[in-house]
Amino acid sequence: MRDIPFGRPWITDEDRRAVAAVLDGPILTHGPQGEAFEHEFASFLGSEAHAVATSSCMAALHLAYLHLKIGPGDEVIVPAQTHVATVHAVEWVGARPVFVDCDPASGNLSAARIEQAITPRTRAIGVVHFVGIPCDMTGIAAVAQRHGLKLIEDCALALGARIHGRHVGLFGDAGTFSFYPVKHLTTAEGGMFVTRHRPIADGVRRLRAFGVDRGGAAPGMYEVPSLGLNYRMSELQAALGRSQLRRMNENLERRRRNFEALRDGLSVLDGPGNSHYCLTFEPDRPRAEVMTRLRAAGIGSSVYYPHPVPRMAYYRGKYGYDASRYPSAERISDRALSLPVGPHVTDDDLSYIKEHLA
Ligand SMILES: *Cc1c(COP(=O)(O)O)cnc(C)c1O
Repeated sequence: MRDIPFGRPWITDEDRRAVAAVLDGPILTHGPQGEAFEHEFASFLGSEAHAVATSSCMAALHLAYLHLKIGPGDEVIVPAQTHVATVHAVEWVGARPVFVDCDPASGNLSAARIEQAITPRTRAIGVVHFVGIPCDMTGIAAVAQRHGLKLIEDCALALGARIHGRHVGLFGDAGTFSFYPVKHLTTAEGGMFVTRHRPIADGVRRLRAFGVDRGGAAPGMYEVPSLGLNYRMSELQAALGRSQLRRMNENLERRRRNFEALRDGLSVLDGPGNSHYCLTFEPDRPRAEVMTRLRAAGIGSSVYYPHPVPRMAYYRGKYGYDASRYPSAERISDRALSLPVGPHVTDDDLSYIKEHLA
């Protein structure tokens, strides 16, 4: 029987050599690999990007809200249909998440839905690009600007997604990426904070490392003008990330081809600029039945996400839950199924998957 997992990290001998070379040297964290990874990642996004490597996407999101000084008494508009990290970051700074339902065709927030949720206490909008499908960032950035709101993009599944030539993560104040094993690119654990604004990147870089300001002083000397955390990425991870980034265009092309080959006859979630993290569709039979059948054939599938975030126990307990406010998020959570399209999926695998979907 075949074994086609939902996600499998794409690790090559080049990647292994890159990590081993760091182990042979004297610097294991906070060094030249991390700096080079930040520069190369920023260049991949575009010439206007600044990047700060972090220990995870969750850490990058936390840094974003901390740096933007969102806190108690503030409301942040967030999607009901997302990974909990998008919302946990808002909770950790003491602000109140205001959940908004998604568009049923893309799983994303729309500018109109966001605008309806704005109150005098709204300070920020935190969007997610659902399974790699970019939100309408032109419309959403216009809403943010009109109302004087900060704009944070969770791009954890959207590396490679561009709208009118601009990469996601660069439309507002902050964007965040995840390098967890099954994402587009992996450093085992890891993330990246990005922004077009140099002062924001500088502030986040300080917050990421204890609030330390070296200010060009002699080695070992530094000042600490603010509170901070340790959300750094190690040199081993950065070396792996750099090596993976060199294959990024091939990775994205293979994802796109796999997605196009599988989509025929399925009712898929999609939109312009999709970076093809997976293929999410609504089966015409009960999802559990389809999943069982696929699993029996050795085909991995997954669910994005098992509940709308406001239905998760922590949020339900804190804010209560009214299902009637999130019909599209409920429908996607309860019925949609996601199939693998990563670079590990071969042409042969695609025919096999289609056979078992029929
Ligand atoms: C995976 C994921 C995260 C969390 O990423 P970590 O790097 O594991 O912290 C956040 N948001 C979304 C949309 C994700 O898919």
